[in-house]
Amino acid sequence: MTDVLAHIEAHLTAVEAAAKAATPGPWWASGVWYHSGTFPMENARNPWPAVGHGTTGADVVAHTARQDGADAAHIALNDPAAVLAWVAAIRAVVALHPMVTIWPTEERVCETCVAFADWPCPTIAAIATIWPADQEDA
Ligand SMILES: [Zn+2]
Repeated sequence: MTDVLAHIEAHLTAVEAAAKAATPGPWWASGVWYHSGTFPMENARNPWPAVGHGTTGADVVAHTARQDGADAAHIALNDPAAVLAWVAAIRAVVALHPMVTIWPTEERVCETCVAFADWPCPTIAAIATIWPADQEDA
């Protein structure tokens, strides 16, 4: 990973674009007691948990195969609004840890963590682990 900030931003941009292109939320999940809609998908015609965004069958965005609803709950909790919020939060944390170069050694350090760490600092390095270095940048 040659440029950790480019690596992080490339993935955030891809995740953000996918969230913006997806059906707006909030999303709800059937099969578990987490939903903001009123359309029940738990019946004989639809035995599979679903994720939706409105109150009709046409508002279903996904059906999941795991009948205990865990997958549907996970998807609903990661609706576009939630994903856009965590993308913004990660960008805010990254902005709090800018890389600076120390004169005259040209050593790269985090401006916030300068007394404690080289570049990338532990915060930026931890964020970069969300997307493994061997994954292609988006
Ligand atoms: Zn830092």
